[in-house]
Amino acid sequence: MKNDMGNDWKIEFLGIRGSMAVTPKEYQEFGCDTLCVRVETEDEVIFLDAGSGLMYGTAGERTHILIGHPHLDHLLGLSKWTQLADPSKKITIYMADHEGKNCKEILHMLYGPPFWPIHLENISPNLEYVSIQGNFKIGDLTVKTLAGNHPGGVTHFRIENGQKSVVYAVDCELTPEAAEALAEFAKDCDLLICDGQLSDEDVAMKRGWGHSTISEAAELGKRCGAKHTILVHFDPASTDEDLRVLESRLRVKYPDCSFGRQGETRIL
Ligand SMILES: [Zn+2]
Ligand SMILES: [Zn+2]
Repeated sequence: MKNDMGNDWKIEFLGIRGSMAVTPKEYQEFGCDTLCVRVETEDEVIFLDAGSGLMYGTAGERTHILIGHPHLDHLLGLSKWTQLADPSKKITIYMADHEGKNCKEILHMLYGPPFWPIHLENISPNLEYVSIQGNFKIGDLTVKTLAGNHPGGVTHFRIENGQKSVVYAVDCELTPEAAEALAEFAKDCDLLICDGQLSDEDVAMKRGWGHSTISEAAELGKRCGAKHTILVHFDPASTDEDLRVLESRLRVKYPDCSFGRQGETRIL
């Protein structure tokens, strides 16, 4: 069923936090929930990752959930997402193989005994699992994939239709090689959503953890020619005050770059 937005795409930031959800009042402006971005096009609803922000996402008749990698902060929203149980919704979860296991096997490990009482397909009768291998199509959209630099591996996604493009690249440590590959992958995109977990001050202790600094991510956005870059996957220790200071410093040099806020919506 087509939506009423014409050719516009609606991008909703349902969760922007990395690693762990947080709740105190010091986190309310940027948000508490882990990563989930909802992309609604004319014909499709696509969720990028299924962190706890998924709880606030409305499924479409056909819904596609693209998981970059199976770390818990990107999966935990599936545990209590009520839309899974709606028999009128056809939901497909996509993820590349990890540690020799495919998408269904990985999700069965987490969502099944002893970690969870029930498998997801027992809640959602129309659920399908797809193991990603390279690029693929969702309706008229092309989804391109790129292997990123993160412990255990991660898949970055570029959703495009010839007129618009969104690139989602989180949990990526931007070594010179990784930055070059990602800059090419994200070339001239309309919106780049990128990992900006680390400040320049704390990066020395956290090299090898699989995340980018704020300035590395902003520089990537500039280098690839993204019309706008939104940084996400903030450290659970970063309060609203911390993030406001970092963002205002960043925007002096990178005016086309901002920090994601839970509840933010962009129209492309
Ligand atoms: Zn993560
Ligand atoms: Zn991760």
